Amino acid sequence: MPSLSISPSVPAKAPLLAFSPLTDSHGREITDLRISITDRCNYRCVYCRTGNEGAQYSELPMADYLRLARIFVGLGIEKVRLTGGEPLLRKGLIELIRELAKLRTPLSGNPLDLAVTTNGHLLEDQAARLKAAGLSRITVSMDAVDAETFARITRVPDSFEKVQRGIKAAQKAGLGPVKVNCVVLRGFNDDQIVPFVRFSREHGVIVRFIEFMPLEEDRLWTPGTVVPFSEVVARLEQFRPLVKLPANSSGETAVRYTFDDGLGEIGVIAPVSRAFCGQCSRIRLTSDGKIRTCLFSQFDHDLYGVMQRGGADAELAAFIEKTVSQKEARHHIGEPGFLKPSRSMVHIGG
Ligand code: SF4
Repeated sequence: MPSLSISPSVPAKAPLLAFSPLTDSHGREITDLRISITDRCNYRCVYCRTGNEGAQYSELPMADYLRLARIFVGLGIEKVRLTGGEPLLRKGLIELIRELAKLRTPLSGNPLDLAVTTNGHLLEDQAARLKAAGLSRITVSMDAVDAETFARITRVPDSFEKVQRGIKAAQKAGLGPVKVNCVVLRGFNDDQIVPFVRFSREHGVIVRFIEFMPLEEDRLWTPGTVVPFSEVVARLEQFRPLVKLPANSSGETAVRYTFDDGLGEIGVIAPVSRAFCGQCSRIRLTSDGKIRTCLFSQFDHDLYGVMQRGGADAELAAFIEKTVSQKEARHHIGEPGFLKPSRSMVHIGG
């Protein structure tokens, strides 16, 4: 495996550029970077990808993601989440995490909050090494707690048990509390809400229900396929009285609950019916090196192009700051004239 040394023009401890927290024109501090390191995936989830085989995919050398991440951190990014496609498919992931874990946030000097979002299929074999490399947290995308529904959504047979073992391996490796994200689609898996609650209580995982967003490759999304926040909460209340929990941080997207007996933690993420754009602290780097200022952007900003043309760190940082200043105020899902984003979720990265 080639070492992840950064190109010689960037000494290990590059002096931090003039530090000011990345802030957009709406006054929101951008502290959370999501880097997609591949748009390849070993699943074909109905709410994300078409069933077509052999799709083209794009990936950069891991050293380039590391160099770009370092510049983002120098500008105030405190959380880095690696996504995909399926990030555990990428060779060099462990080394990338090891290098990212060495970075320090400019203001506090603290290590980054490093997380990965995975479908869990390859987690059993990699959990311990991910933890040892410096990973802080893991989120598993899992949309059913029975094998039949799971296979119907992922369109990959015999994958359910592998993901269960992956979650156990992550807990054993000390990556807990493991979060499980479930995208709820009416007519597909909305019957899984209460079974997931039992799963959370029995296995000590935090389950978060996410409203279905129009980010799929097919044309599956309609307002009717969304199970809104109010309905999810009503179904949870039918199981047991809910107790609201405080947010972990100002930009947290989930509304957190436990039950009257304190067992289990459930989150509801409602970007469609209860948008949280006002506190958005996120920016994304796609697997081909483009900045996405919002999940629903109509534009890409070609940061990697600047790098390929020999751009120095200061130039890349200036490009990032200029791009962040153009971040959209919010999404317009369900409004007249709403346009689906120019990229689907698999090519953006969660
Ligand atoms: S829709 Fe865009 S602005 Fe709103 S929370 Fe998501 S990324 Fe942020």
